[in-house]
Amino acid sequence: MQASQAAATPVPTPTSTLSSNNSYRHAKRTAKDYIFGKMIGDGCYSTVFLAKDIHTGKEYAIKVCEKSFIIRQQKVQYIKREKDALNKLSNVPHGFVKLYCTFQDEERLYFVLSYAKNSELLKRINEVGSFEINVAKFYAAELLLALEQMHARKIIHRDLKPENILLDENMHLQIADFGTVKIMENDKKESAVSISEEEENSSNDRSRKISFVGTAQYVSPELLQHRVDTCASDLWALGCIIYQMISGLPPFRGSTDFLTFQKILKLDYEFPEGFPADAKDLVEKLLVLDHKKRLGASDLETSDTYESIRQHPFFEGIDWENIWEQTPPKIS
Ligand code: ATP
Repeated sequence: MQASQAAATPVPTPTSTLSSNNSYRHAKRTAKDYIFGKMIGDGCYSTVFLAKDIHTGKEYAIKVCEKSFIIRQQKVQYIKREKDALNKLSNVPHGFVKLYCTFQDEERLYFVLSYAKNSELLKRINEVGSFEINVAKFYAAELLLALEQMHARKIIHRDLKPENILLDENMHLQIADFGTVKIMENDKKESAVSISEEEENSSNDRSRKISFVGTAQYVSPELLQHRVDTCASDLWALGCIIYQMISGLPPFRGSTDFLTFQKILKLDYEFPEGFPADAKDLVEKLLVLDHKKRLGASDLETSDTYESIRQHPFFEGIDWENIWEQTPPKIS
């Protein structure tokens, strides 16, 4: 996508609000409706602030993107997709940060999001080194349920990692950062689609370097090698995240992104001593190079749940129906 095209692409408008959040529905919000507080996050394309609505006193996380930067970086489509994905997920009661409204001024775009008070899963893993198995099991189960909801709506996240998994005030998991999502069209939940034009263009020199969306340690081999999008890529990331919750580090780690990619493509990783057998078996069944053979990869052809993953012995004892109402096990 050329910069001139990006400039012509409409950006989110103040009236575009979520139907499920009625109090915000008709209100044309501007930055003046909020008191902006501390910065709570910083990404490649945005800065996230804690902000208080001056009318209600309610706290939100407001993601602020500089328009000129987004246009320069040719990321207008990504911002639009992020908003589309958040809108599609607006009626899902659990597992995702909520978008309340968007607005803009001359220089910036604003996403008013629910505030995930307990920060990133990564921070929690790093604080304790690694999770007890019951904690890892609980968050892996919530992540799987969130993936079921997302994939049923044909949304592939493509950048799942512990930095993008947040914890709300009750320590339940919420997926964030939909900036690299792919929204599948024509009911192609499981089929591979080729990478879109603007992503092709974003890899300026494909012959010299591997280009990808997402983050090196969690990117799936099919995205790296064949540049295809499939829900199973998020299942690969699930495998990496389960491994990381239990061992403290992601499975594929090289001193450069390139070396990390080599390890991914060779499935070159090891389990630390004492890694529980059930968890090992599940990770091995998710970290399968052929995405079609990954555990759960064909589940969505017949159902909206990842039944074969739910049934894995690692998840024994999980109450799938009531997990969001449970008190999460304490992280220690
Ligand atoms: P990236 O560089 O990963 O593409 P980005 O610019 O798309 O980042 P996000 O990942 O959405 O931005 O947000 C950056 C950080 O801000 C997150 O990792 C998280 O720590 C924090 N953050 C984002 N949304 C929220 C939220 N709703 N509640 C609390 N913190 C949040």
